[in-house]
This record gives sequence, C-alpha cells and structure tokens, in this order.
Amino acid sequence: MADTKIDYNQIKDDLEHYIEPNINYCCQCGKCSSGCPAVESFEYKPHQIISLIQSGQMDKIVNSKTIWLCLECDICTTRCPEHISIAAIMNHLRVATWQERTRKDKNIAKFYKLFNKVVQIFGRSYEPGLIMGLNVGTGRIFNDADIALDILKKRKISMLPEFVKGRKKMGKTIKKYL
Ligand code: SF4
Ligand code: SF4
Repeated sequence: MADTKIDYNQIKDDLEHYIEPNINYCCQCGKCSSGCPAVESFEYKPHQIISLIQSGQMDKIVNSKTIWLCLECDICTTRCPEHISIAAIMNHLRVATWQERTRKDKNIAKFYKLFNKVVQIFGRSYEPGLIMGLNVGTGRIFNDADIALDILKKRKISMLPEFVKGRKKMGKTIKKYL
C-alpha cells in the first residue's frame, strides 16, 4: 500500500544522484545477496532492493521491514563489482521515512527511542539492555529468550555494558537531533 505522505520520487532521485550514483550500474549478479548475513530475515534480498529502486517500486521497499533489519555491515559493498553501497541506501531509506513509519508502527518507534536512549547512556549499543527494554516495552517479556541464551552461552554479547569515553557529549548531540 502506497503512503501518500512519503515522496517516493524524491527519495529515488536523492538515491540516484547523491547517495549511490552507481546504482544504475547494477548487473543483478546477486553477489551482495549471497554474502549478506541478514538475508534470511529480509523480505527483499539486497539485489532485489536495487532492482525495485531501478524500476521505481519504492513503496514496496519502504513498506517492508527489510530496511529496518539491515545490519549496515557493508559486506554487500565489498562483494559488489560496482562498489554499490546497499548499507548507505538502506540508511537513507530509513532516515527519509522513519518519521512516517514510526507514526504508523509503534514497535519501530519504541525500538528507535530505546536505541537512542541506550547510546545516550553508554555511548554505544548495549544489546542485553536493548533486548530487555524492548521486550518489556512491547509486552513480549520472553520474546527470543531461547536465542538470547544461546548468544550469551557462545559469548557473542556481554551481559555487562561498556561505557565509552565522551558519551555525555555524544548524548547531547543525539538529543539535539532527535
Ligand atoms: S553485487 Fe552489486 S552489481 Fe551485483 S546484484 Fe548486488 S548491487 Fe548489483
Ligand atoms: S549492509 Fe545490510 S544489506 Fe549489506 S550485507 Fe550487511 S546486512 Fe546485508
């Protein structure tokens, strides 16, 4: 369903002219998608995102959850023969549409608010705090608890937060732009 409050033509124009001018060189080789660690969670694979942009089907991308699940790891860019940065594209799509999306999708709004709060406090992301805060905030206390246990057992994330030097200054900057 198209969202009339979002100017899809403007977003496409900005992407092609300022964010990723190489976008129209995409040859649909699929190397980006085959290396993407989050692809299983995406509704549209990275090479499909490029194809949708090229064909002007911006509403499909914006109304999917894909742009919110990109990890911004940039593996796609390093694999791309045309050096197309899909992470930069995803980021631009989030920035250009977040106000409208957070108005409609309360869970995205909660995540955004919480994530920014966590970064303001610690100066970086603190995953256990983020997961617990989000589960409490959305009323799904035990959501993904089994996965969380596995991740902790394998020491992929630490239970204790790290505090980054200069976090107060960073917090003030975040507050200013929210
Ligand atoms: S790797 Fe690059 S050229 Fe190949 S499909 Fe992905 S974006 Fe297009
Ligand atoms: S930056 Fe996003 S799209 Fe690219 S490989 Fe990482 S998760 Fe996938």
